[in-house]
Amino acid sequence: MMPKTTSPIWHPFTQHALQDEMTKVVRGDGAYLHAADGRRIIDAISSWWVVTHGHCHPHIVSAIQEQAGKLNQIIFAGYTHDPAEEVASQLLELAPRGLDHVFFSDSGSTCVEVALKMALGYWHNIGKPRTRFIVMQHSYHGDTVGTMSVGARSVFNAAYEPLLFDVASVPFPALGHEQATLDALEAACRKEKPAAFIVEPLVLGAGGMLMYPSWVLEEMKRICEASDVLFIADEVMTGWGRTGTLFACEQADITPDIVCYSKGLTGGSLPLAVTLCRADIFDSHCSKDRTRTFFHSSSYTANPIACAAAKANLDLWQDPESRRRVAALATMQEEAIAPFHTDPRFANVRRTGTIAALDLKTSDAGYLADIGPKLQQFFKDRNLLLRPLGNTIYVMPPYCVTAADLDEIYAGIRDAADALS
Ligand SMILES: *Cc1c(COP(=O)(O)O)cnc(C)c1O
Repeated sequence: MMPKTTSPIWHPFTQHALQDEMTKVVRGDGAYLHAADGRRIIDAISSWWVVTHGHCHPHIVSAIQEQAGKLNQIIFAGYTHDPAEEVASQLLELAPRGLDHVFFSDSGSTCVEVALKMALGYWHNIGKPRTRFIVMQHSYHGDTVGTMSVGARSVFNAAYEPLLFDVASVPFPALGHEQATLDALEAACRKEKPAAFIVEPLVLGAGGMLMYPSWVLEEMKRICEASDVLFIADEVMTGWGRTGTLFACEQADITPDIVCYSKGLTGGSLPLAVTLCRADIFDSHCSKDRTRTFFHSSSYTANPIACAAAKANLDLWQDPESRRRVAALATMQEEAIAPFHTDPRFANVRRTGTIAALDLKTSDAGYLADIGPKLQQFFKDRNLLLRPLGNTIYVMPPYCVTAADLDEIYAGIRDAADALS
């Protein structure tokens, strides 16, 4: 089918034969996007989960402007620069205790690829090669071939499935079924002798905003540690305040062996990612023998402008105001979803920190169901940027969103249910 669009651009996660027009945005400001046609749109999903302090935060913008005129790119093998050094040392201060090294990359997918390669490299280099990974059902870790392999198999990757590597999977710890997950993890650790278990802590994002309690996270870490299996936390979405604490792992009081941060690392202003690891993982790659080098790089590794933006983001997190806003938004979200618990048109009304989600009851469920695009269009007409995952509607706004904005968002959700359920 011929696409209706006249632009040569191939957009991500977009069926061009069905979606003819893209909304052109000319300016972002706090929780708002300003469209070319003059409309003001409330960004209720932080532009795909990246914008934390708001669009065009002045402190981040000025850091970018200043760095751009000083040093805008430099090879990162054999060279270093202050923005990267400062970001790395501050990250180690903020991250769970016991992480010692920081590897830079440029997206959520790449920092997860780095984590997988670090784990494989570790076992290879200590002379006990292991090549299996354990994953959690419904997980999402990115769209590259390696990250698709450790993510849920679905319509998203059906065309590539024959090339994806095989993994062992444990069930999602649904309410009341947590022990089954822990038992499955313990069995898989014993039977498979895997290199690592990779998991999104507390909230599985793209899998449908599925939430589980911190004690399960704590137990999963304990099982991996007891079984000598590396524990990789993918905090690409959950990091930077989303779950109510700076990082989700804090709520379980655990230190992963390897952790991935991206999305909110620059406050959502520029692409940057990091993979943090324990000293022994770094040490296993450290040798006079050059074959043990960690052979990974991207052209823009630790780009100085992106690092300056990350440094500015870290400054903002030093200010107690950021944590106060996260706490305030969590409370506002709890109040906003409260009436939906008794609304018979919705199920699974849930919240973790600043993220709220609810499922619209429909006979037409699943990601590809027509309800998803219909809801999206309905919200678009209301000047709300919401992008349901099938019939799961979630609200994940920047922390500067106001109570009045939230009222508008939830009124839109209520009206969408009136119109479409
Ligand atoms: C978004 C996401 C990724 C991938 O990040 P990109 O920057 O889109 O490559 C990986 N893991 C999780 C948990 C994510 O939410």
